[in-house]
Amino acid sequence: MKNIVIIGAGPAGMMAAVQASAADNKVILLEKKDRPGRKLMITGKGRCNITNTADLSGFMKNIPGNGKFLYSAFKNFFNEDVIDFFQQIGVPTKVERGGRVFPQSDKAADVVKALTDKMYDCQVEMRFNTDVEKIISHDGKIKGVKIKDDVIEADAVVLAAGGASYPVTGSDGSGAKLAREAGHNIISLQPALVPLVSDDEWVKSLQGLSLRNVRVSVFTDEKKSAEMFGEMMFTHFGVTGPIVLSLSRQIVLSLAEKKKVYLAVNLKPALTPEQLNARIQRDFKKYTRKQVKNAMIDLLPHRLIPIVLDLAYIDGDKSVDEITKKERIHLTETLQKLPFDIEKARPLPEAIVTCGGVNVKEIDPKTMQSKLLEGLFFAGEVTDIDGYTGGFNLQAAFSMGYTAGIMAGKQ
Ligand SMILES: Cc1cc2nc3c(=O)[nH]c(=O)nc-3n(C[C@H](O)[C@H](O)[C@H](O)COP(=O)(O)OP(=O)(O)OC[C@H]3O[C@@H](n4cnc5c(N)ncnc54)[C@H](O)[C@@H]3O)c2cc1C
Repeated sequence: MKNIVIIGAGPAGMMAAVQASAADNKVILLEKKDRPGRKLMITGKGRCNITNTADLSGFMKNIPGNGKFLYSAFKNFFNEDVIDFFQQIGVPTKVERGGRVFPQSDKAADVVKALTDKMYDCQVEMRFNTDVEKIISHDGKIKGVKIKDDVIEADAVVLAAGGASYPVTGSDGSGAKLAREAGHNIISLQPALVPLVSDDEWVKSLQGLSLRNVRVSVFTDEKKSAEMFGEMMFTHFGVTGPIVLSLSRQIVLSLAEKKKVYLAVNLKPALTPEQLNARIQRDFKKYTRKQVKNAMIDLLPHRLIPIVLDLAYIDGDKSVDEITKKERIHLTETLQKLPFDIEKARPLPEAIVTCGGVNVKEIDPKTMQSKLLEGLFFAGEVTDIDGYTGGFNLQAAFSMGYTAGIMAGKQ
């Protein structure tokens, strides 16, 4: 029998606790908040997108932050296993658009409750309002952890204290601090899946406008570096929405390197420039003698019309019959490349995930054990792993938690 301490009652820590409790191990789970799974409760807008039905290569594409490190953990416990696990503990699931898996009840609270009940069944001792202050080791081996006025001795410790986004949920970056003090290198914590700030006035003036089926291209130091098709939204500070969040990771890293970043929105990505030009001509014919600003109502949302015309240097009060061929071509170009600068990302507390964390080169991918300290294991967002939206981050947390829990229990 071994004494195992788990730090953090998020998805990674709870999964590790359940697995580590096998073979009569004594497992103590320490959580600084007053209850488990505070972040898990708000995942997927309260519905909890627990995993994705993508295959392994799909997962690799969707985990830009060190996805390959997870090969073994995914081999041990992948999406089907997560779905089976939750089915067994009373949370049947359903699959939605893009392979996203949710509990049938649409309630993240059911996921948290089922995991908590399972931990009770496995006789995991849960201590809430318990902040781990230090990981204690001696001669390269784990000895335990320090909490307020006490030391808890342990044969193994699983550090699953999360990243640094949404700190009110408890994941406030203290996991990285604990790991650093234990001797690990931390890759600088940066926001990922985060809204972006633009100082361009017209961007802010469109606050609340959503655009579907657009293509957003990222230009880094004037070179196109990425593009994505889907939905985006304007806000009072800049832009957000699924494609912006997904592109944000690489933009944050470019801005950190002092590169200049601008985005260009193609409002009509399904059309070639020639097709769009012909479409505009048709609309202008239909609205002949009308002012150009009133002749674009079939083409664009109302609020975008004056902005597009402004950026194309066309006087919206002009009659469509006065528009020159050159102006029409310029309009086409603007519609397919509406550019605006990105100053910065919103801060890390507002990000959905943290990019950076414990350097994965210092962790054995097969066991999740530290290469520096025997008996120290890692799981979840405390490591330098981050994925896109779609259930990839929770799957990573469950797979790492599963592997770390089993290996800590065996060690
Ligand atoms: C708004 C939002 C929505 C999201 N939606 C999804 C989604 O639908 N699907 C998806 O895949 N991912 C989603 N994510 C990401 C996902 O929630 C995280 O990747 C995941 O929770 C990470 O799990 P974790 O166990 O590593 O860390 P966390 O869930 O952050 O848990 C870490 C726990 O450790 C505790 N802790 C921290 N420091 C200490 C300490 N010193 N002592 C004791 N306890 C400590 C914290 O209080 C916390 O409870 C979302 C994130 C956010 C913010």
